[in-house]
Amino acid sequence: MKLYLFNTLGRTKQEFKPIAEGKAGMYTCGPTVYNYQHIGNFRTFLFEDFLKRVLIYNGYEVNHIMNITDVGHLVSDADEGEDKMEIGSARTGKTVWEIAEYYTKVFMEDSEALNIIPPTRYTKATDYIKEQIEMIKCLEEKGYTYITTDGVYFDTSLLSDYGKLAQLDVEGMQEGSRVEFSSEKRNKTDFALWKFSPKDKKRQMEWDSPWGTGFPGWHIECSAMSRKFLGDTFDIHCGGIDHIPVHHTNEIAQSEACTGKPFVNYWLHGAFLEEEDGKMSKSKGEFLRLKTLTDNGFSPLDFRYLCLGTHYRKRMLFSWELLESAKNSLERLRQNIKRMRDENLPGREGENQRAELYRTDFIESINDDLNMPQALAVMWEVVRNNTISDKLRLELIYDFDRVFGLELEKEKSHLIEIPDEVIELAENRLRARTEKNFKLADELREKIKSMGYEVADKKDGYELRKL
Ligand code: AMP
Ligand code: ZN
Repeated sequence: MKLYLFNTLGRTKQEFKPIAEGKAGMYTCGPTVYNYQHIGNFRTFLFEDFLKRVLIYNGYEVNHIMNITDVGHLVSDADEGEDKMEIGSARTGKTVWEIAEYYTKVFMEDSEALNIIPPTRYTKATDYIKEQIEMIKCLEEKGYTYITTDGVYFDTSLLSDYGKLAQLDVEGMQEGSRVEFSSEKRNKTDFALWKFSPKDKKRQMEWDSPWGTGFPGWHIECSAMSRKFLGDTFDIHCGGIDHIPVHHTNEIAQSEACTGKPFVNYWLHGAFLEEEDGKMSKSKGEFLRLKTLTDNGFSPLDFRYLCLGTHYRKRMLFSWELLESAKNSLERLRQNIKRMRDENLPGREGENQRAELYRTDFIESINDDLNMPQALAVMWEVVRNNTISDKLRLELIYDFDRVFGLELEKEKSHLIEIPDEVIELAENRLRARTEKNFKLADELREKIKSMGYEVADKKDGYELRKL
């Protein structure tokens, strides 16, 4: 079945056609590790995980690169202001390197708790400074750069299609900005490729370069690292919608100017998670972390379920009530699954065809630009349809869960984790019952209970449950 994705480049839903058959190269902009990631950031990482799982479900082998931005970037998108890592360092009293390591670790733990499949490779910006310098040299040789007192800049006026991703009105922006912008930048949209360290101060993170000691601009790491691991042109690039006008626009400018080839075929962007007062952001100071949710009695998978319920291109308003309702739905789903496993009821004639129709509905939903809310609805229809045997329904649900990632099958392993001694006692008890030795059967039931299990009689034997 064909897979359709909404491409920000062109703003249309397009059939996904990979560069190499059966393979998908994917780059996702990762966390800036000067602070914890908030649940808004994780909404984006979850959307990217849904995308990756849909690709895998469709049979693609996914080569996924995610960067870790551990180099200091400036607070504003306009290459000005303080350095985020240095601010983090001042706030916590740790070195910038310690900060990066700590927040990277927490980010990875949270991702794992949310059952996000790790990328093929995490690439730390500070591990690839050489590649970033090489790319700036490439741009310099081709005449795209100029030097100011504070760094090496990219001249965006030299590209006829600058801003195509964001559909920027570049000329309009220039007109409007003439009065207020007074830096040495030639054009308002020009951006730093390399920033010089301040003359009067040593930075914790700085490197030598052909242009002087300093540190890379914010965007160059993604262009350099994606090129290294995915090639000059690759299939998919993702991030949150805030990256469209500046970060991704500038990645495209650098990469295409350097290689002379198209950078990325499909750009996908996730909408924000918002609170009542707008976008959740780190700069607000207070924000919700995954730990805030778990401290309040929710599991990471409750949040995952919540995110499945809103299409990735729609704004999502966070509230504790909605999270509570996601938690309840997930619990109900697990109860249904448990019942199906326990009772294993038969279906009615024609169940295989009905099951396959559901599978088709499911694939149509996920392949229609990741329509997860609809895919969830299909799963709930399966849960409710008792004309299909429990066994077949479970097969479908577990198959769908390859995309949802709710660990629905895991419950099974909890159930079969019963110690051998308990099973032996239950077997002895079954024998005693068939031999009508009810006294022994009762004694064995008590013994099983003392070991933390309850045995229930069933038509075809017995069932064990953990107390
Ligand atoms: P950052 O660590 O700020 O670079 O952000 C990591 C990812 O989270 C990026 O893809 C951002 O676009 C995304 N992001 C930031 N804020 C939000 C939000 N409130 N909702 C959803 N995604 C966000
Ligand atoms: Zn990036």
